[in-house]
Amino acid sequence: MFASCNPTPKEETTDNFNYTDEQFADLQMLRYKVHGFEELTLKQKELVYYLSQAALEGRDILFDQNGKHNLVIRKMLETVYTEYPGDKESKDFKALETYLKRVWFSNGIHHHYGCEKFIPGFSAEFLRNALNSVNAANLPLAEGQTVDQLCEEVFDVIFDPTVMPKRVNQADNEDLLMTSACNYYEGVSQQEAEDFYNAMKDPNDPSPIMYGMNSKLVKENGKLVEKVWKVGGLYSDAIEKIVGWLEKAANVAENDKQKAVIEKLIEFYRDGDLKTFDEYSITWVNDLDSRIDFVNCFTESYGDPLGMKASWESIVNFKDLEATKRTETISANAQWFEDHSPVDKRFKKEKVKGITAKVITAAMLGGDLYPSTAIGINLPNSNWIRSAHGSKSVTIGNLTDAYSQASKGGGLVKEFAYSEEELKLIEQYADITDNLHTDLHECLGHGSGKLLPGVDPDTLKAYGSTIEEARADLFGLYYLADDKLTELGLVPSPDAYKAQYYSYMMNGLMTQLVRINQGNNIEEAHMRNRALIARWVMEKGAGEKVVEMVKKDGKTYVKVNDYQKLRQLFGDLLAEIQRIKSEGDYIAARDIVENYAVKIDPTLHAEILERYKSLNLAPYKGFINPVYTAVTDENGNITDVTIDYTEGYAEQMLRYSSEYANLPYRN
Ligand code: ZN
Repeated sequence: MFASCNPTPKEETTDNFNYTDEQFADLQMLRYKVHGFEELTLKQKELVYYLSQAALEGRDILFDQNGKHNLVIRKMLETVYTEYPGDKESKDFKALETYLKRVWFSNGIHHHYGCEKFIPGFSAEFLRNALNSVNAANLPLAEGQTVDQLCEEVFDVIFDPTVMPKRVNQADNEDLLMTSACNYYEGVSQQEAEDFYNAMKDPNDPSPIMYGMNSKLVKENGKLVEKVWKVGGLYSDAIEKIVGWLEKAANVAENDKQKAVIEKLIEFYRDGDLKTFDEYSITWVNDLDSRIDFVNCFTESYGDPLGMKASWESIVNFKDLEATKRTETISANAQWFEDHSPVDKRFKKEKVKGITAKVITAAMLGGDLYPSTAIGINLPNSNWIRSAHGSKSVTIGNLTDAYSQASKGGGLVKEFAYSEEELKLIEQYADITDNLHTDLHECLGHGSGKLLPGVDPDTLKAYGSTIEEARADLFGLYYLADDKLTELGLVPSPDAYKAQYYSYMMNGLMTQLVRINQGNNIEEAHMRNRALIARWVMEKGAGEKVVEMVKKDGKTYVKVNDYQKLRQLFGDLLAEIQRIKSEGDYIAARDIVENYAVKIDPTLHAEILERYKSLNLAPYKGFINPVYTAVTDENGNITDVTIDYTEGYAEQMLRYSSEYANLPYRN
């Protein structure tokens, strides 16, 4: 339990809330504000509190899933970090501190995004001496193990770049299991694992379970065995703690449906049966009326090179009623938008159904959603459940807010925007129009239009996702400038759209390239789509100088001269992209993507990278969680739950490592 001696949180306004925190390596820590928490009822706050505890109890599971030595290494480093008697300002110690922070951030010793192993900036000799200088009782020693034997156990893993170099290896022609450091399989070859699961699958089963999702596959006495993650199985100690909090949560559920969701999840954590998991998913998808919602389970399979084993994650959230009204307004008018879009009538839907994407406020992040997190969630992953029972799609409003607030101080826009005029537009309206663009993209863009009869949805092959994203983005861009949005009360000024138009062009033509190394092409579908749109409209409007690239003091800038013409060009491109999609015109898709979306002008790219470097920004971001404290009366009843945002990153990590240290170091 949290000590109840936490200071009462200061009432902070959005304006002086500290969205940014420390920066190290390629990472920046941010904070998110839980708007509206104070307005929840006491029972709802209590529910959030219990679910938040459950969200933190599984932390060690993810560390162990990401690599079998992670828990041992984390504990070694933490002990040195807190107890080292030597010079804490030395270069070696500072490097160890950075390394440890990266391990915390990645939930292991491999980069959370690139999957490559970290290279320590300190020597093996330094670490060995440091380990020998701290209290051995606080080191993760196995029974009878000496400090030197502990070094023996993990030093190659830490220091030898050829040992476990990648967490997830996707290279062709290699045994993906033998060459990946993730801990989902042990002593099992890729072929063996594939054979094992293929033998289980029935291709005619209309409702297949998520095979292998909640277990580690190992070889015991020459036989393959699944070690299931459940109460009484692998990771039992952590799962029991999670279940304990879920039981408390079930008691304060908002309604019977939600109570049933929580109870099903508890049942699954107890029996480990994937059929129970499917039942849970269906119950969860059908719980639409509760204000509070959560994910707490083995969920995403990106960490398994075979895409079956799911990493543990959690998010606790509640519906943002104000923002959800916005998406509901948009969805309710879906038919109007479809009817008035600039695409050929043959490609329009006669009857269109808008998707109501719920906007939520994150209250706690855990496991694979912490500290690096998604800003939207679409679950469950089971295909048959999605088609038979639907899915929940949410955007996480307060995290998006935090990103955009944090970027304001970063200087990127200041460096790349053409003049004060654009800066002012962006400052005034970008938050609103950014969110609106996302809403239009998600709620209407993807759902608009139709394929002509007989067109195979996969005809566009590798170009399909770029075309699809371009379609949704263009739908949003085109309508952002429409009077309909003013009429619906969604924009504060008829000029607001200019903020999105300018930043979209600036990003598509320039700033998104900061994420690509010199000499490489644009690969990722969303980035290709943005380049495609920005470059196409610039070229088509070149005669009238609708948008141009200009030089000022030796630097390149994007200048938009005619916003209304720019809107027309977005409309023209939307019509063409929809035609390509509807007719399944592969040649046209290939040509437009290859011509506009892939190559980068090396001179411009070098200039952008140089300017970005001078800003000293971190490309990856993660969030520090708030701290909830249950205030109790003399009988132990909760009388209030308070929220505090002042905990530092290292402080939070060390506290989690002591309060939620639920697993043995070696599992
Ligand atoms: Zn999309």
